[in-house]
Amino acid sequence: MFTPDRAFIERLPKTDLHVHLDGSMRLSTILELADARGVKLPATDEAGLAKAIHMGEICQDLNDYLRAFDITLSVLQDEEALRRAAYELAEDAARENVRYMEVRYSPILHTRKGAALTRIVESVIEGLADARRDHGIACNVIICGIRHIEPQQSLRLAEVASAYKNKGVCGFDLAGAEYDYPPKQHREAFYLVRNNNVRSTIHAGEAYGPESIHQAIHVCGAHRIGHGTRLREDGELLNYVTDQRIPLEVCLSSNVQTRAVRDFQSHPLGFYFDFGVRVTINTDNRLITNATVTDEYVRAVETFGFDATQVKQLIINGFKSAFLPFHERQTILRRVNQEVSALIEEEVARLAATNAEAPVKAVDPATPQKKTPGATKAATAA
Ligand SMILES: [Zn+2]
Repeated sequence: MFTPDRAFIERLPKTDLHVHLDGSMRLSTILELADARGVKLPATDEAGLAKAIHMGEICQDLNDYLRAFDITLSVLQDEEALRRAAYELAEDAARENVRYMEVRYSPILHTRKGAALTRIVESVIEGLADARRDHGIACNVIICGIRHIEPQQSLRLAEVASAYKNKGVCGFDLAGAEYDYPPKQHREAFYLVRNNNVRSTIHAGEAYGPESIHQAIHVCGAHRIGHGTRLREDGELLNYVTDQRIPLEVCLSSNVQTRAVRDFQSHPLGFYFDFGVRVTINTDNRLITNATVTDEYVRAVETFGFDATQVKQLIINGFKSAFLPFHERQTILRRVNQEVSALIEEEVARLAATNAEAPVKAVDPATPQKKTPGATKAATAA
């Protein structure tokens, strides 16, 4: 089977289940919104702003990384800004063939100018609905509680998530500084969402060890885990997560940027995949990490040598892990399965044709002829 290149990956239908609204804006939009609202930014052009938010740079740690959000949040304090940010995020994702996206953010961080929590939630849902109408991308919202804000606020946000369940909101999350802020402090919020049959995911095992993942699953009842990078440190829990098919929302570049891992090679994604964990590929923060879903797949292929069949499995994992109703998910899965298989067949045929067209070098009749490995593989696969 062939190794997919960027152009091929871009054509594949994809998901992004872990992407933060406030970390995924366009630089130009931040500048425009700040200008129109009289918000002072640390820079007045895109290059300066990119530097100020450490765009794509390796940070000291997760807390250093999280500082960039002070800048994006400064311009996301009204309905119009939120609606625009949501629309543009979905538009950007649709352009690289993301078919389903779950956008997360914490409405409580957008109330500085007095906007009501309800309107903050509705504005984002409206922006995403407009993008669906214009670009065909399906989206849902995940409401985030914040670890380093008092648990009482998480409870309020859990109420909001429950109220908007099936009205554009599909889940609840806990984000923010992981170190020193264990998920169990927010157990009341998770108790409420569980009682309301709202599905949940929790950032865990990124800046703290597997205990954080254990609590997320067993104390808070999380259905998915954001990152789970340090799950490999606890074999018992790794087996439980695998057996229960608990999806991990892997964000490769973000993990390198926040120093959750030393470099791409030391990331556990390849091991998790081989072991049978349901791993999915996600961006985390398109702007701050300077990453698209396509970029992240390309990175995964380059680092771990995934072939087209394995990339297909990662894509299917993404659609299987979506917080969508079961029957809807099944319908999408059948379609995506067929579409990706067809694209793979088409690519195999194209590669075989390209190889056949390659100019044949004059060969000394005394030298035994060798087939090129690519041509053999392609012919076998076809
Ligand atoms: Zn995240």
